[in-house]
Parts: sequence; C-alpha cells; structure tokens
Amino acid sequence: MLAAQIEAPEKARVIEAEKPMPGPGDVLIEVAAAGICGTDLHIFHGEYEAKYPLIPGHEFSGTVVAVGAGVERYRPGDRVTADPNIPCNRCPACQRNEPNQCEQLAAIGVTRNGAFAQYVTAPEGNVFPIGDLSFAQAALVEPLACVVWGLKRVQIQPGDSAVIFGAGPMGCLILQAVRHSGAAKVIVTDTVPWRLEQAAQLGATETILADSKQDQRLRALSPRGYDVVIEVTGVPKVFEQSITYARPRGKLWMFGVPPRDSRVTIMPYDIFRKDLSIIGSFAVNRTFQESIALIQSGAVQVEPLISHRLPLDRFCDGLELAEHDPKRMKVQFALS
Ligand SMILES: [Zn+2]
Ligand SMILES: [Zn+2]
Repeated sequence: MLAAQIEAPEKARVIEAEKPMPGPGDVLIEVAAAGICGTDLHIFHGEYEAKYPLIPGHEFSGTVVAVGAGVERYRPGDRVTADPNIPCNRCPACQRNEPNQCEQLAAIGVTRNGAFAQYVTAPEGNVFPIGDLSFAQAALVEPLACVVWGLKRVQIQPGDSAVIFGAGPMGCLILQAVRHSGAAKVIVTDTVPWRLEQAAQLGATETILADSKQDQRLRALSPRGYDVVIEVTGVPKVFEQSITYARPRGKLWMFGVPPRDSRVTIMPYDIFRKDLSIIGSFAVNRTFQESIALIQSGAVQVEPLISHRLPLDRFCDGLELAEHDPKRMKVQFALS
C-alpha cells in the first residue's frame, strides 16, 4: 500500500509499505481522508514523543474493510472514524478514569502507524460510526473532540464573553463550540487577515488583527476583562499577555501547544487577587461521540476549515503547506 513515512526527524517520503493485518480485536480501515495537525509537524521536526520510522496521521476517516477475531460491532462497508488514543487501562491514571493522562498512552499515528496510508488498523473500542458525515468532515472529528474535552473542563456559562487568540483551524473550531455553549460575545484575534475573515463567517462577534493596536482594541471592547480567555497559538509571549485580559474570577484556557521547554513571566499576585483559574486541556478524553454530534447537528461547521485537499503522494508538499502557506487552514489528504 501507499504510505507516507517519517523515517527520522526532518526525513519524510512516500513509500510502498506492507498492508497491515487486523489483529484480534482490531478493525482494518481503508483511509478516505486524513488531516495534518500541528502534532504531525512536531513529529516531523523531532519535537514529540514519537517512535521512528513512523507512518503518522491521527485525524482520519474511512471504510471498514476487514475485522480481526472477536470484533462484533463493525463489518466491512461501515463508514467510520477512530479515536487515536489508546490508554493502557492499567496505570493509576487509567484507574482513576483519566485516560488522557495515561502513563503509557499509545496513539495511532504517534506511537504506532497511522492514517497517512491506504490502510490503518484501530482497536474496535476506538472506532466510531460517522453516519451521514462526509469523509472530509469526519476527519475533523478528532480535533473537535480535543475542543470538547477542553470545553468540559472550562465550563462556559450562559452569556460569557470570550477572547480567542489564534484563528487557525483549532481557533475556528473553538469559536463555534464556545458560541454554541452559550457565550454571547466571542472575539477572535490573529496575525492573518484572511483567517479573521473565516472566523467572522463562522460566528465571531468581532475580529481583531494582532498588530500594535490589538491591546488597545481588546481592552476597549471589554474594559473589565473577559470571562474566558483562550490561548490557541502556543506562543509563550501570547500566553503571557493573554492572562492580563481575564476579568476578576475569569478563566484562562490553555489550548495551544507551547514549546516544551518554554518559560513565561506572569504575576502570581494577579492570579491570587483576581481569583483567576488557569485551565489546561490535553488531547481527547473520550469525547468522540459529542464531537460527532456537534458536526452532525450543524452546530459546528468543519468544511470551511479545509483549505487544501491533496493526494497522499504529495505528502511532503502537504507538510510544507501546513507549516508555511499563509492561506492554510486544515490540510487534508484525500485517499479515496
Ligand atoms: Zn491532531
Ligand atoms: Zn494508563
């Protein structure tokens, strides 16, 4: 089968790989669509806990073509997506029902071969039917499931005001999900005007270009600060500033992925004096069903977020586009 492999950091190529066989309890999926995520770029650059050589790809959809021994819920022809995260179900975190904090978390496309290939296997319990979603839509269930997990932690309240730093695909998913959770005012900032236009179309009540006037405009729009401040850029400097926009009793949701060894300077006194909450959210935490429901109902639109569709043999171009094209949102490979 055709597959895109990262052989070592900074070394990727399209190869002819052996088609995987579904082991006991596994489902073999013929991949139809698979999206590139920031994590794939980190894996490419050697900045993530991945095992090389690796076929990455953890946001995908496709059709079941075979099932391993003991699989009961799926049969060939079923249209599906899969939660890439495979917790060990044995460690203290798993035993506390915190599978995203599993001490031996395995993941399709990170620690085992993923979906930038014609075929991928997934454990039956990780597979979800996608109903009438298109394959392109269903390949965005995983990123939205990460958003859903964060939302459950942050708990948006009716009428909340929110500011989102970053209007990429994740920022635009968060924007829609936050509005649907009851936020009345959602302001989005980004350095790229084109992305702000997308955010405006997807329901941002105001968009602000992240230039020298951003600070003034954000403070003018909500002089007491915002109920919820959402950091989606992963840029430490943005995180540092973002906390200053939270109102007293406000929340800061840390969603963007900062460099691992980065440090920031914040004023702990402000956290104390203002009763602030800083909330992280990591990956998916059994939130696929909710994510599928949000897309199926139309509450969250994902198709406008797909900026590029490429065949898999253009894998290296895809990586390049996903990292550098100023007009990029989600870059997807269409396989069938
Ligand atoms: Zn991802
Ligand atoms: Zn575990």
